[in-house]
Amino acid sequence: ARELAWAVNSPALLEEHKKINGAIIRTRFPPEPNGYLHVGHAKSMNMNFSLAFEKLKVPEADRRCIFRYDDTNPDAESEEYIDSLRRDLEWLGWKPERTTYSSENFQHLHDFAVQLIEKGLAYVCDMTKAEMEAQRELAYKRAAARSTGKDPDVEFPIPSPDILPGRNRDTPVQRNLDLFAKMKMGFFDEGTYTLRLKMDFESSNPNMYDLVAYRIKFTPHPHIGDGWCIYPAYDFTHGLCDSLEHIDYSICTLEFESRREPYYWILWALDVYRPAVYEMSRLNLQYTVLSKRRLIKLVDTNTVRGWNDPRMPTVSGLRRRGYTKEIINGFCNDVGATRAQNVVEISKLHQTARLQFSATSTRVMAALEPILIVITNFDEEAAKASTLTFEVENSPTDPSLGKHTVTLTSSIYIDSSDFRKVDSSDYFGLAPNKAVGVKYHGGNLVCDEVVEENGKIKELRCHLDNSEGRPKPKTYLSWVPSNGIRAEVRVYNELFTVPEPSDLWEDEINPESEIVYANAILDPSIKEVPGVDKGSVDQWTSNTIVQFERMGYFVVDLDTTFDIKTSEGKLVFNRTVSLKSEGPK
Ligand code: ATP
Ligand code: MG
Ligand code: MG
Repeated sequence: ARELAWAVNSPALLEEHKKINGAIIRTRFPPEPNGYLHVGHAKSMNMNFSLAFEKLKVPEADRRCIFRYDDTNPDAESEEYIDSLRRDLEWLGWKPERTTYSSENFQHLHDFAVQLIEKGLAYVCDMTKAEMEAQRELAYKRAAARSTGKDPDVEFPIPSPDILPGRNRDTPVQRNLDLFAKMKMGFFDEGTYTLRLKMDFESSNPNMYDLVAYRIKFTPHPHIGDGWCIYPAYDFTHGLCDSLEHIDYSICTLEFESRREPYYWILWALDVYRPAVYEMSRLNLQYTVLSKRRLIKLVDTNTVRGWNDPRMPTVSGLRRRGYTKEIINGFCNDVGATRAQNVVEISKLHQTARLQFSATSTRVMAALEPILIVITNFDEEAAKASTLTFEVENSPTDPSLGKHTVTLTSSIYIDSSDFRKVDSSDYFGLAPNKAVGVKYHGGNLVCDEVVEENGKIKELRCHLDNSEGRPKPKTYLSWVPSNGIRAEVRVYNELFTVPEPSDLWEDEINPESEIVYANAILDPSIKEVPGVDKGSVDQWTSNTIVQFERMGYFVVDLDTTFDIKTSEGKLVFNRTVSLKSEGPK
């Protein structure tokens, strides 16, 4: 009830807000630059830049969203993160009204703090971290006792007023102003003093136990340099920046629900404009983690290749994996806005991708783990055939994607998954003495001999049967001609083996999350695929997705250094998704 009263704007404040915003409705997206953006942030951006306005039926022309760097903790923040946030936001296609930095409001926030001291609503405190912890715990136990009708003085008596409500609460205003000024000027060491808000130790909400508004920190700031040695805390900064920027709707995730009370307390205490606060559930995704703290751990332990590893749920990882902004934003839209806590199936993201790729991707044949096939009667068959070059549609559903040709050669490659030394009735691939169709050519390949060297298959010697009466094969093999292009192909599976990774997750990392095929071979027509033709893809503007027949959708990786003209360097592909859902692996 108090919270509700604190949240109300006086008529004068409302009047002022209307004067400033007019018909405009403003939201904000305020990431802290302490890591890269992930798909949870993508959902939040989708909400703040689009979905919220749709729900509120705000006309396009009146929609505004501020992109704010919530940069109050220099220890965890860096320029690398600042830059990456900006690029990812732009890549996703969002256009902020303005970009702001909480740190650029530091002077203003400081002046607010001084006002609170003058009003007797803030004080400088010399309690240690441990003392504050004990204080919080005691206050919380007493509030819990009170709420069940027990007497807190009997259940949890206060050992000393030094601890609760604390020895500094009644320091005279002038002394507080003096101490705060000295904090700001660098007279005191880190950890000696804090500025605390004089809130309410009888509350059942621990976020009302005299929050720390300022702490001493001599770390220079990545955006504004080394001008400050006191830094405002998240709760103190966040609401005041929302207020200063005249945000109409401040949307955050549900775990911030209990921070609403201090949010409004601070704005009430200063009698400044109050935005409306809404909480939404966090996006959780199966088989991955969406918290920067945990993602940092994956990067720092070299479990992945970096923040933009194709297995990471980061925007940059998804981009490198081949996901487009349309897929990511489409997925976020589908997930929508709820207050229900749930874990979204990762297959939903995959399915969104498949729908897009199946319509737009060019197909080529590929062998990830190639086995050499020597066609022993190739010359006779070549003499009989009118041609061994076949025209193939790039996409069976979209003729506008054009055609390419494939040419059968006297030796070809197939993928190792298409050959077994021991046949079985449920296996349709090639095996000794078995006839299997050759895709696009139409004839049968019959394996006559398996040539091994050091226990490894060196080649299969086969003959081509193109006779009228040849048996009808159960399947047609994909193959790559002898002049195929070498490439490294990285196949990605889920990062974790369990849908909801625990905090002790080392054992839950999927050892097969990345499988590298260093000597894959691709049909030479890969050279003609736009984007691939240069040997590199500009992932900022477009991702070219290629379908390796029967294997999945692939994108050129950033590690590619390949020059397609000279065939020198290394062409690297990442698998974005398999063709069909295979379930987690
Ligand atoms: P993390 O634990 O990943 O650091 P955070 O909430 O501290 O998350 P911020 O950079 O402060 O990260 O987040 C910026 C905005 O994105 C906030 O409004 C936050 O609510 C929202 N956000 C962060 N993670 C998610 C998520 N998984 N789902 C939805 N929104 C999210
Ligand atoms: Mg945060
Ligand atoms: Mg965080």
